Amino acid sequence: DRLVAAVSRDSEDQVDRAIRPLSLADYVGQPNVCEQMDLFIRAARGRREALDHTLIFGPPGLGKTTLANIIAQEMQVSIKSTSGPVLERPGDLAALLTNLESGDVLFIDEIHRLSPVVEEVLYPAMEDFQLDIMIGEGPAARSIKLDLPPFTLVGATTRAGMLTNPLRDRFGIVQRLEFYNTEDLASIVSRSARILGLSMEPKGALEIARRARGTPRIANRLLRRVRDFAEIRGQGVISSEIADQALTMLDVDVQGFDHQDRRLLLTLIEKFEGGPVGLDNLAAVIGEERHTIEDVLEPYLIQQGYLMRTPRGRVATRHAYLHFGLQPHTPEVN
Ligand code: ADP
Repeated sequence: DRLVAAVSRDSEDQVDRAIRPLSLADYVGQPNVCEQMDLFIRAARGRREALDHTLIFGPPGLGKTTLANIIAQEMQVSIKSTSGPVLERPGDLAALLTNLESGDVLFIDEIHRLSPVVEEVLYPAMEDFQLDIMIGEGPAARSIKLDLPPFTLVGATTRAGMLTNPLRDRFGIVQRLEFYNTEDLASIVSRSARILGLSMEPKGALEIARRARGTPRIANRLLRRVRDFAEIRGQGVISSEIADQALTMLDVDVQGFDHQDRRLLLTLIEKFEGGPVGLDNLAAVIGEERHTIEDVLEPYLIQQGYLMRTPRGRVATRHAYLHFGLQPHTPEVN
């Protein structure tokens, strides 16, 4: 069983690699980000300098890792990737930094989860390309300083608010990724289908795009499941009917909300009269981690106008009631 699971995960990884865009020209949507990055990259290349440190933020699956890799590709340099929680000790970061070559990209995903001691090492490295760490312990401990080659730190985070000020201030370029519109998502799944050799009608692409929560990773994931369905029930062609049937079977509704989204909204409406309710309370009742609600579930519901964050807690909007065919609750005016 394990072996089978491993093999299928491997092939999913292969699919992932095959459909991941490798250049800015293939990076769909995010016009402001693309325009700016194209300009900054050309300028840095023209001056033969490393690109300024770049912070990318946005909810999971919107293309932060993809963009980091594209930056390295467009700068024609290598990229070394790691993530905040993996870098436990200053030495872990030092090892990576001392292995960089001039101009390279160091990508740190979940950079808000760096431990404070590791973050301390990053400050002089980012600012002066200097490594400044203590080695050894007790009386034998000493500090060593090393010059580093100029490099570009690309940091990714789901929430910019979680970064410490000194860290945020050291990024010269800050990019915020937005949820994708339906047309962009349709062109992402069409491109993926083309690469995977799938037969898909434009309306099939639109149906998947509409139900992908504004997120390329979800769009590509839905495409794979719809493909399975089309192979068994639709002679291999992804039409809008096949996509609709497959997505309905997967419990993804017409707004793209899945079971968790609906549970969050319905709990808010049915157990808390639409709110306001505090995040911890809500998390306890629906049995989700607080940060899953904040990072994964909420952003899209808020952007689509189904949920509001207020100082007193989360509130379900009129839209949310109507989505479930319920009578909107009119909050008492005090
Ligand atoms: P994040 O790092 O923000 O969680 P990723 O960069 O891993 O997201 O993106 C998830 C997947 O979505 C990628 O594998 C890629 O195939 C696809 N993707 C993301 N952004 C784009 C884009 N702008 N154009 C096309 N595909 C994209």
